[in-house]
Amino acid sequence: VKSNSIYRFEMFDDEMDQRVKNERLILSTKEQALREQEFLIYLQPKIELIPNKIVGAEALVRWRRPDGSMLQPGAFIPLFEENGFVLLLDFYVYQEVCKLIRGWLDEGRTVVPVSVNVSRLHLYQRNFVEEIRKLINEYQIAPKYIEFELTESILLDNTELAVSVMKELQSIGFHVSIDDFGAGYSSLNLLKDMKADVLKLDKGFFREGEMKRQEKIIVSNIINMAKQLDMRVLSEGVETKAQLEFLKEVYCDMAQGYFFAKPMPVQQFEEMIMGSKYET
Ligand code: C2E
Ligand code: MG
Ligand code: MG
Ligand code: MG
Repeated sequence: VKSNSIYRFEMFDDEMDQRVKNERLILSTKEQALREQEFLIYLQPKIELIPNKIVGAEALVRWRRPDGSMLQPGAFIPLFEENGFVLLLDFYVYQEVCKLIRGWLDEGRTVVPVSVNVSRLHLYQRNFVEEIRKLINEYQIAPKYIEFELTESILLDNTELAVSVMKELQSIGFHVSIDDFGAGYSSLNLLKDMKADVLKLDKGFFREGEMKRQEKIIVSNIINMAKQLDMRVLSEGVETKAQLEFLKEVYCDMAQGYFFAKPMPVQQFEEMIMGSKYET
């Protein structure tokens, strides 16, 4: 027993070591990675349920390292939130999305709105909305093509500030959604203070397997309530046909999830919206 516990302790130590090394590498290479365009935009389709069609996409960042490995945002966004680098990275993402939409417009392709994620740090930047306005002016993009996703946790953090930023964005003509809704405790309370365009139900409601009766009741009632409050509802993390059928029954407007498609490189997304798999 004794040697076993020492062994386990060493394993743990090694893991810690590896973790610290990874974090150091991430932190020391981030600026160069941004310059070298190692950060990639992946797009995940948003599907309108009735009729079944792609009505948008969410931009999700990936980091392709020079050794070919691909890092998911969970591995670096939290670190970049600690040191402010996320502000630069997000603007890079917003710029890439503007370029993309500009390209679709120029080429006469189908254009769908693209949503981007907002970090909590942005709210504390006085010129956040102004910088975004400059960006769409530069690319001559109508604000209706861009949607900003603010997570429930950001909104709960400093509701007053978040609501004012949300309203400012909406007054320009951007759509705003509440991301990960229902993940925290007092999320319902949020809805009395703000009117988002879209409520994104957290993927926690759609874990693997059948949905429990209680989950179905909660989801269908949130959808009802959101509609009465003039918001559209999108369910995140939909993975099964049964979940989709249920969501149609309770008149959920849109869904996003592996059942339809995983986040994919831009070119693949473009082929998808031009292809016959879904009508656009
Ligand atoms: P999010 O905004 O809630 O994005 C949805 C996450 O759920 C994505 O994870 C997506 O790949 C994943 N997902 C989609 N469908 C399914 C499904 O059917 N099942 C499951 N289990 N997961 C699904 P991803 O891409 O790893 O991103 C994680 C989080 O990182 C995002 O959560 C968002 O908060 C953050 N993030 C991603 N890109 C950016 C970015 O450019 N800027 C900022 N600030 N945050 C970002
Ligand atoms: Mg999101
Ligand atoms: Mg989410
Ligand atoms: Mg999330």
